[in-house]
Amino acid sequence: MVLQGIWFDGKTSASQPVELRMNEVGTISVIRVSDQTLLTTASITNIDVKSRVGNTPRYIYFPDGEKCETRDHAVVDRWLKQYRPSIKHSLAHSLESHSYFVALTLVLVIAFSWVTVVYGLPAASRYIAYHLPEKVMDRAATETLQFLDKVHLKPTSLDEETRARILKHFAPAIAQNSDLRIKIIFRGGGDIGANAFALPDGTVLFTDEIVHLAKNDDELLSVLAHEIGHVKYRHSLRSVIQGSVISFAVAMVTGDVSAASNLLASLPVVFTTLSYSRDFEREADNNSLLFLDANHIERHYFVDLMERLSYQVECSLLLGDKGDNSSSDSSTNESAGSSSSESGSVDKKEAVDKKEVVDKKGWQYVEAHREECDKLMASRGDSIFDSKVLGYFSSHPQTKERTAKFKQPSAPTPVSP
Ligand SMILES: [Zn+2]
Repeated sequence: MVLQGIWFDGKTSASQPVELRMNEVGTISVIRVSDQTLLTTASITNIDVKSRVGNTPRYIYFPDGEKCETRDHAVVDRWLKQYRPSIKHSLAHSLESHSYFVALTLVLVIAFSWVTVVYGLPAASRYIAYHLPEKVMDRAATETLQFLDKVHLKPTSLDEETRARILKHFAPAIAQNSDLRIKIIFRGGGDIGANAFALPDGTVLFTDEIVHLAKNDDELLSVLAHEIGHVKYRHSLRSVIQGSVISFAVAMVTGDVSAASNLLASLPVVFTTLSYSRDFEREADNNSLLFLDANHIERHYFVDLMERLSYQVECSLLLGDKGDNSSSDSSTNESAGSSSSESGSVDKKEAVDKKEVVDKKGWQYVEAHREECDKLMASRGDSIFDSKVLGYFSSHPQTKERTAKFKQPSAPTPVSP
């Protein structure tokens, strides 16, 4: 095998065309092309060959400081492969020209994107949520409440005395979080039923239905402590921002406050359809637990209320189903109201009917029919919840983890937030 190249003796800048020949034992002879003079010999194990980069010429360095420049890459590669099999010499070239380099790049790009989405976006939305000007949060809260009042909620029908009693019970929790500007408001739940949620400006809304459902004010207080957690960690803002973090970033950088608050337009949807991520719920639960423990309030109040809520929803639905077949005496009002239009899409009507039933069967009614409900639930087996059921339970599912946490006696060691 012969290799063509240009020879530099390492002493002068002069160059001359040479041929490199190799014998069977791996000794290279360097022969001057012009007169076939042997310039030097060297074993292939003693020369240093630079890695190949594309088709640019590469150098072969000899032990006495000479070097040979060559473009006969194929020959060099064959020699190296034959006498000095080493991945090192071919790596740079392989990386460049082989498909696995492309694949590797692709994997890296995907990994980077994944890390960005999983860690970067939450971190970015967290940062933005904590740096939003107060007036943006106030505007978002006001607009959200306006929307909810128009579409879902009704004025409260709780009497003055009840509201005052609850507010008095809430006072220490509000005082302990004075920096969050917590403000309590009451509303009729309308189609979102027994519910409670926090708006970004610190307003916490309780529906009449959840107040009626609670057996004591500590149950409501445990819900408040949970909702304060959502305010403290800005969960509603972070949920919305995460969905549009790039537009938010631009609005923040350009200082366009109105653009940022326009982006919060989707906030009302968060409160009616979207539930918080498990991590956010866990954070809010921990906030509630810390508060309950610190104030010597038993932990179980939170899940007690959740349990009653889920029972009420399920029982109402089952009684409602039953009411469709055999006429039920105490459901005269609601049947008359909801079945006034007989025709129409069956699916839609069914959903509406179910929702009506959930609205109208209060806890007292459910409790009075407990025996019947228990029987229906036992025969039904699976839970019959569907996404049409709105309410605190739908956004705060009674997970095993949650039940276990709140059923525990007060923690001896503080729960990390
Ligand atoms: Zn929550």
